[in-house]
Amino acid sequence: MSRVYNFSAGPAVLPEEVLKEAADEMLDYRGTGMSVMEMSHRSKAFETIINEAEADLRELMNIPDNYKVLFLQGGASQQFAMIPMNLMKNKVADYIVTGQWAKKAAAEAKKYGKVNIIASSEDKTFSYIPDCSDLPVSEDADYVYICENNTIYGTKFKKLPNTKGKMLVADVSSCFLSEPVDVTKYGLIYGGVQKNIGPAGVVIAIIREDLITEDVLPGTPTMLTYKTHADADSLYNTPPAYGIYICGKVFKWLKKMGGLSVIKERNEKKAKLLYDFLDQSSLFKGTVVPEDRSLMNVPFVTGDKELDAKFIKEAKEAGLENLKGHRSVGGMRASIYNAMPYEGVEALVAFMKKFEKENQ
Ligand SMILES: *Cc1c(COP(=O)(O)O)cnc(C)c1O
Repeated sequence: MSRVYNFSAGPAVLPEEVLKEAADEMLDYRGTGMSVMEMSHRSKAFETIINEAEADLRELMNIPDNYKVLFLQGGASQQFAMIPMNLMKNKVADYIVTGQWAKKAAAEAKKYGKVNIIASSEDKTFSYIPDCSDLPVSEDADYVYICENNTIYGTKFKKLPNTKGKMLVADVSSCFLSEPVDVTKYGLIYGGVQKNIGPAGVVIAIIREDLITEDVLPGTPTMLTYKTHADADSLYNTPPAYGIYICGKVFKWLKKMGGLSVIKERNEKKAKLLYDFLDQSSLFKGTVVPEDRSLMNVPFVTGDKELDAKFIKEAKEAGLENLKGHRSVGGMRASIYNAMPYEGVEALVAFMKKFEKENQ
């Protein structure tokens, strides 16, 4: 067996320990004589799996009792519609557009009401986070929406926007569980798990209880109503059971590592290694303003498309995979999520140094 260092933005690297455990339990999950994949979602064994997963997530994120944790499907993209359908009571919402995902979310919300783009960083290819300390938040806005970590561009909100009392909704797909958060600052936090937590197919939504109501936009499908899933503890219909099981294992792994403060330190150490190299490199250059740099997604370029392509090809041959930047920005991007070991970033930097020497 040989594993590569996988810098994919998502689906992405998972802790090896978790994968091994899942492999060990593949044919016979703890004496049940079956795989979790084959198991009824109403079984005792699965009930324990989902309840433990929720309890561990609550502990990791310090989620207050007045927030529900929902395990949903449809990807983060389905939330782009589910959010306005459930939360746009006044049919007005403010969006801060810091990348393609926020832009898509805003475009989807437009189908259901009035969307105000109150800030954007599109003028500079989303390479920074706009100043959000005093934005023209709409008086009748139902919520203010952000994408907290911009997977494609490698920016991160280091400070949440001043929403002037409006509820904050955040897509945290690519920074989920990468550092401690204060859940009380949000009405809704959600993310697809395939970036930093588990296999594609699960979306976790953490939503304040008072926002879960039957008062949704007319025509909202049962499956797209938060209340449906909240009332049924995420078991209204068959949930993505195997995915939830793997997420649960990752939560336990994170707890074992020491929780989110420790994970944050680890992530900072990893990111620093790469950013410090980029800042002094004569060949490679980071594309994001230093103060808004993500700890998770690190885009960089040589400034020469052919050299970029050569780098990506040779890196792959050296066991460093999926370093190609998003098709909308080009260049390279190293996603260094929680499960990427420090040694992986060391190997990348060593390879970049070598490539720099050979291609000056
Ligand atoms: C990947 C990603 C999405 C889209 O996720 P899907 O699960 O593919 O719909 C949305 N937002 C962010 C921040 C992402 O990184």
